[in-house]
Amino acid sequence: MTFKELNIIPPILKALSKENYTSPTPIQEQSIPAVLAGRDLLGCAQTGTGKTAAFAVPIIQLLNEQKTVPNTGRRIRSLILTPTRELAIQISDNIKAYSQYTDLRCTAIVGGVSQKAQERALNQGADILIATPGRLIDLMNQKRIDLQYVKILVLDEADRMLDMGFIHDVKRIITKMPSKKQTLFFSATMPPEITKMVKSLLVNPVKVEITPVSSTADRIQQSIYLLENGNKQNQLNHLLQDKSIASALVFTRTKRGADRVTRDLAKVNISAQAIHGNKSQNDRQNALNNFKSGVTRVLVATDIAARGIDIDELSHVINFNLPNIPETYVHRIGRTGRAGLSGTAISFCEMEELPFLKDIEKLIGKTIPEVKDHPYPMKRIVQPFKTEPASKSTSKPEQRKPKPKANPARKPKSEWFAKGNKTSKTSR
Ligand code: AMP
Repeated sequence: MTFKELNIIPPILKALSKENYTSPTPIQEQSIPAVLAGRDLLGCAQTGTGKTAAFAVPIIQLLNEQKTVPNTGRRIRSLILTPTRELAIQISDNIKAYSQYTDLRCTAIVGGVSQKAQERALNQGADILIATPGRLIDLMNQKRIDLQYVKILVLDEADRMLDMGFIHDVKRIITKMPSKKQTLFFSATMPPEITKMVKSLLVNPVKVEITPVSSTADRIQQSIYLLENGNKQNQLNHLLQDKSIASALVFTRTKRGADRVTRDLAKVNISAQAIHGNKSQNDRQNALNNFKSGVTRVLVATDIAARGIDIDELSHVINFNLPNIPETYVHRIGRTGRAGLSGTAISFCEMEELPFLKDIEKLIGKTIPEVKDHPYPMKRIVQPFKTEPASKSTSKPEQRKPKPKANPARKPKSEWFAKGNKTSKTSR
């Protein structure tokens, strides 16, 4: 299959060939004809599958072919909503590349930076607007944005927008658009709130599902370090002494955790920068650019900040904390091993994270191999006799182990994930 066979017009073909896209990816193959035919679309595919071009290419083509009303200036005819600034900028860069031989103009408006440049870009006019919900609402309130001519709406990473508390903003934004429009909806999971939105927004959608998340991990070499409490930083410092780790994206659970890990790496002369929601937009972009260009070897990130970020040739993903949502593990490690390259994912696990590990292994359908030979092994307690008085016991970590909180986002589990999820019994 070629892009030409998907009836893509010559100016876009030229741009795709400049990007070295020789043939469409599976999600592009399935989505492009449906979107070109004017259908609504419900997509499930993680980043790295070519999701952006799957919606951007047909949108560019449709808008390019649409007749515009003379003497009205440019009007926003497509709106793409995304949860994070980085993702918005990345999508905007992609769309600029794909549409460079057309007359279309696109612009991104995101929070965390001055509004001035965005106002100027809006005044010059845009056919395609990529936005995070917060800043978009601000500009709508200031009457700088008119959405009444939107013909195609894209909601990208809708489940993450829900997690980030954007869903009311999104609903408000949608009320400012014509009800008759084409809607493309992408979400990795389908919590009830999202299912409700899909039902109310999409009309007879084409459903596209690419590689259930549980099987994407297959080409990535995974390992787990079971560590004694309080030794993760030591283990990380130790691991990064290995110069064959060219670039590592380290995931922490919290923003403060990301800052702490970055500081502690600096103490042992390992170049690292952190990227998370408390950093200014400039700092985040700067950290990302430094990492992509190899100036820094380690990028420490929280899930939300790293979502959707596309880093070519990332050799290692390190889970400093195991996520409590198993799908997040698969999203994280999917950052490496892109475009057929092999990748390595290393995870640290302390006693209290063992239940998370069990959930992850259940989702991916296999046991993650344990690295046994390292300086900080977890002391696994074997209970000697049940009759021993509890008061005499000085260390019973299994009993003290906090149970991880049930995460509402995980229930009900997406039907998409249920497919292909062979459960495996682990021996830990
Ligand atoms: P995405 O899932 O949209 O973040 O895309 C992941 C990566 O794949 C990006 O670096 C894209 O530039 C690249 N990509 C998208 N479509 C193609 C294609 N048809 N051929 C080669 N690379 C692609």
